[in-house]
Amino acid sequence: TGPLLRVQDLSVSFATGSGRLRAVDGVSFDVGAGETVAVLGESGSGKSVTAQTVMGLLPRPAGRIEGGRIFFDGVDLLDRPDSYTRALCGTEIAMIFQDPLSSLNPVFRVGTQIGEMLRRRRGVSRRKAREHAVEMMHRVGIPAPHKRVDDYPHQFSGGMRQRVMIAMALSMNPRLVIADEPTTALDVTVQAQIMSLLADLQREEGMALVLITHDLGVVADVADRAILMYAGRVVETGPIREVYDHGAHPYSVGLMGSLPTGDQDRLTPITGAPPDLRQLPTGCSFHPRCAFATDRCRTDEPALRVAPDRPQAHRTACHHAEEVLADGFR
Ligand code: SF4
Ligand code: MG
Repeated sequence: TGPLLRVQDLSVSFATGSGRLRAVDGVSFDVGAGETVAVLGESGSGKSVTAQTVMGLLPRPAGRIEGGRIFFDGVDLLDRPDSYTRALCGTEIAMIFQDPLSSLNPVFRVGTQIGEMLRRRRGVSRRKAREHAVEMMHRVGIPAPHKRVDDYPHQFSGGMRQRVMIAMALSMNPRLVIADEPTTALDVTVQAQIMSLLADLQREEGMALVLITHDLGVVADVADRAILMYAGRVVETGPIREVYDHGAHPYSVGLMGSLPTGDQDRLTPITGAPPDLRQLPTGCSFHPRCAFATDRCRTDEPALRVAPDRPQAHRTACHHAEEVLADGFR
């Protein structure tokens, strides 16, 4: 049997006032059953668009799939009608968003929202759905759930609202959960609590978890694997410890270096802004920001290859990965 999720050579474009831009460009990755994968990158790197495409949430007609395949459990979702993906979403695949306030309906009680999928998809009674909601609220660590189940979203703190979102996402016992910046809107201590809750639930439920974030610090201890994206492409991927300790792409080394606990000597800070996707730099799109860039980088686009002298699973798209690796051990 193959991986639970396989994204193969996916390309997605977006219409803008000044023409189409390529938001995702030839992205491939797998997520195994029960695996936790972090997708890392700055905003505009294509990580959210990739997730939206998997979930069938790409805004149309602005967003367009230009090519590629998305297999869930061996079935190519892009081959099926949208109704097929919609039926999977919420049941087999669930998503957690950054801002629970905009994803929760302010006029419905949280218990009603947590139990809604169960009522709609499984036809369970209102009373049973409410009991299930209380149980889910308990599982995600909301104190006194039987008292809070009839409260409205605004009556919860930001962290508790995110727990409500997680309870909703897990209510149907999905096999894959995609969390897009799940802790970005929260303060630092609450971020850590939510991330460890997700890790605990992942272990207990055994679901696959995709964590999309710009912040390596919040996922470093939780994820098995990292996928780093830049300007719509995968630039480095591998087991998270491996990529963390032996970064083989200047962009990843920069992201890791921006960790508060990072070793300052190894830091190659990322200066400059992400590129305009309508006018990508030639060659390696990272070259204007890269301390290692040479003439070759300005003309040849680097392909993903095994990082030099590193395990097979560790791959990088950098012409000068040898030097980047050597520099990391300085
Ligand atoms: Fe830097 Fe060149 Fe590597 Fe791109 S290919 S990251 S510009 S060294
Ligand atoms: Mg985003």
